[in-house]
Amino acid sequence: MKHPENDKKYKGLSVNKGIEQPPIVNPYRTRTIRKKDYSISEYVEGILRGDMVILSQAVTLIESARFDHQQKAQEIIEKCLPYAGESVRVGITGVPGSGKSTSIESFGMQIVRSGKKLAVLAIDPSSERSKGSILGDKTRMEELSIQKNAFIRPSPSAGSLGGVARKTRETIVLCEAAGFDTIFVETVGVGQSETAVHSMVDFFLLIQMTGGGDELQGIKRGIMEMADCIIINKADGDNMEKAKITQAQYKNALHLFPGHESGWNPEVLTYSGLTGRGVPEVLEMVYRYITFTKANHYFEHKRASQAKYWMYESINEQLRKRFYQNEQIQKMLSIKEHQVLNNEISSFAAAHELLTKYYKQ
Ligand code: GDP
Repeated sequence: MKHPENDKKYKGLSVNKGIEQPPIVNPYRTRTIRKKDYSISEYVEGILRGDMVILSQAVTLIESARFDHQQKAQEIIEKCLPYAGESVRVGITGVPGSGKSTSIESFGMQIVRSGKKLAVLAIDPSSERSKGSILGDKTRMEELSIQKNAFIRPSPSAGSLGGVARKTRETIVLCEAAGFDTIFVETVGVGQSETAVHSMVDFFLLIQMTGGGDELQGIKRGIMEMADCIIINKADGDNMEKAKITQAQYKNALHLFPGHESGWNPEVLTYSGLTGRGVPEVLEMVYRYITFTKANHYFEHKRASQAKYWMYESINEQLRKRFYQNEQIQKMLSIKEHQVLNNEISSFAAAHELLTKYYKQ
């Protein structure tokens, strides 16, 4: 039987005669605005000039997972390295709600008012799971984010903690080359990310809240040990007395820790990020530490060992990435994983087989 749609009289799919397209409605739209693709030297010159737009785009290259972007980023970093290093790098940690963003806004405003340039970066461990950053968000630091001499960048969100931390470490290089003399690296005080931050800063600040006065707030011992200073926030209004008690408790607790390699005795200060009371003292202490460690050469010793640490970290990360991105390995991984889960093969044997396969390629 003949299909009705093949009948000559059938009009269902016939094409109507077209009409003339009207001109573009917006008379001002003369060209398509596309993000400019700068050359490496344009990037480097822009960064050295302190051009924030170019700096932001270069950081986007660092954060990109694309191979060609990564390559370009590495070349830019290399060319910027001779101009980097001249800054004070401060790590800031504290549990959510301790007042990190309020404090950074307060510290930051004082820093930019004194004529310095501040970059606020972040390492956010939660972003790996939630694929969204909760730190370094511009909306959290409203006043600071509109300052001409402040650059706020949320945490790079993709990849392992090591990968995220490396990207922040590389961003520091570009920011320094762009003339930022103060770098804040913020993280949530809950775990491993502190070690990563510690490995890229000169001074490590731990923010604690004015507590109920009877317990040290669930902060991990390791983080307390790393801190060059504990600052008790929210020392304002009715909290003043409590803040003093909390301060005394932390001072006592710090006595129990071994001394710092730097020769510096960690201090405990109270302040209010909200009212600004005690903020100048906190900043003054940071600069005092820098002067102290520069005088006893610990400053350069620490920076050198950090550079070594990042060399090994980069190697580890690249090796791991290559291994897991390998197609053969990816196919074999799920099979081996299944066998391990079913007790058909030991985890060590599975790892050995996978690595042997990788090296043989
Ligand atoms: P973050 O999660 O660590 O970044 O903390 P936020 O800066 O967002 O602060 C958490 C809450 O504590 C907010 O409601 C702030 O208004 C409040 N807060 C922060 N700093 C102070 C302070 O110095 N004094 C008082 N009273 N409240 C503060």
